Amino acid sequence: MPRTYFIRTFGCQMNEHDSGRAAGMLETLGYRRADSEQDADLVLLNTCAVRENADNRLYGTLGHLRSLKMDRQAEGGDLTIVVGGCLAQKDGAIVAEKAPWVDVVYGTHNLPNLPDLLASADSAGVPVVELIEQFETFPSALPAKRSVRHHAWVSISVGCNNSCTFCIVPSLRGPERSRRIGDILTEVQSLVADDVIEVTLLGQNVNSYGRDLAGASQFAELLRELGRIDGLERVRFTSPHPRDFTEEVLQAMAATPNVMPHLHLPLQSGSDRVLREMRRSYRQRRFLALVDRTRELLPDAALTTDIIVGFPGETEEDFQATLDVVDRVRFDQAFTFQYSPRPGTPAAERQDELLDPEVMRDRYSRLEPRVRQHSLEAHQRLVGTTQELLIESPSKSDPSRWSGRTRGHHLVHLPAPDHRGGREPAFAPGDLVTATIIEAANNYAIADAASSIRRTRAGRASAAAIARGERWEQPADAPITPGAPARSLPVLSSTGG
Ligand code: SF4
Repeated sequence: MPRTYFIRTFGCQMNEHDSGRAAGMLETLGYRRADSEQDADLVLLNTCAVRENADNRLYGTLGHLRSLKMDRQAEGGDLTIVVGGCLAQKDGAIVAEKAPWVDVVYGTHNLPNLPDLLASADSAGVPVVELIEQFETFPSALPAKRSVRHHAWVSISVGCNNSCTFCIVPSLRGPERSRRIGDILTEVQSLVADDVIEVTLLGQNVNSYGRDLAGASQFAELLRELGRIDGLERVRFTSPHPRDFTEEVLQAMAATPNVMPHLHLPLQSGSDRVLREMRRSYRQRRFLALVDRTRELLPDAALTTDIIVGFPGETEEDFQATLDVVDRVRFDQAFTFQYSPRPGTPAAERQDELLDPEVMRDRYSRLEPRVRQHSLEAHQRLVGTTQELLIESPSKSDPSRWSGRTRGHHLVHLPAPDHRGGREPAFAPGDLVTATIIEAANNYAIADAASSIRRTRAGRASAAAIARGERWEQPADAPITPGAPARSLPVLSSTGG
């Protein structure tokens, strides 16, 4: 029997991407995917240092895995426990000290060494810890295992040259380094040949892509090039920085039909004073001008954002400025956070300026209903329109409904196709359908039955799996995707953001 693995991913899409690469590497070593930790010989925790209480959650999970490991050992077996990702990079030695039953701890730049680390752990008897400051191989060059057929994460750069004072990412992922455009295009072409119809480009600051290679952003050029790939239906990207949304990028989006009309513009605060203290290099006026220009060039584009309430020293006047921007822009969706310090960031040192929790809660409770109302209005505007939906999955809670995404990334539920008694559904995850929106809610819309269906190879494979009563996602024995080409690694950038 081959050994089995289970990966638990915490945090952002970059970690999802890296987990796919870790899965690919484990499969090259002969491991096979297990459905749960209980069924696995190796459990890998890909950690996040950005989310609140990340370390408490990690140690809670490690405590549970310790019991599992002890039970296995009592029965003469074992469980290999691996901790990787951002929290491992930040606290690696501490993880090994606090949880000595862990076998391997590796940082954000060490993924290519995973096979060697596992081999060393076999004989070490103590946690093997490897943390390095800079990577030598882009994770994209490693083999990957995708979780679904029709979609892939494509890393275009790693690291960040900005220094937002609330953010721990630059110290964990290092300075920004971009992949070469030809390498990215070759990777996307081979993904499309392997049934992928949608890619999400990933970077900490995607729209400054290429600045370390060419001295100026090449993001617009990359989008236009991706527009020339036959069979690539949808291109998305995350996360952009408002400062780097140039006219050129907006023009490229408007001129490239497969680049989806959705911009995530992290506002963080509407107050110029707070933006300065956050070291965000745009101001309210610039942000609003960007929104206006976007709406001129891309009138149907959905706008989403992130907002931090209660940054240290935020006054009522500062908060009002945020509310003003929120009311003016009326985002399709806003992810709102109450500020909480991330150890190791400059803002975390401003302990004496932290807001009273009562004030924080009050401000948050005044912001939340507004963003929910705007989101409802955005979904209401869709009612009566016919939308192209990329089918994503059967609903987890209601078997009569399936879910898809509009071009603007709105979540839409629609009636499930008939697949009773082993019948193949008329469409499946990975297919494109059109449907009329009939109802709106805060976080989603509801559509009538699909009026037209465009089958894809991914959709057909998902439909056949559903008819056989199997998982529609990539099966455990699906082949791994070989690593993408990687020519010489670009010279490390020294430009600051
Ligand atoms: S742009 Fe700012 S928030 Fe985003 S990763 Fe870089 S430092 Fe963090």
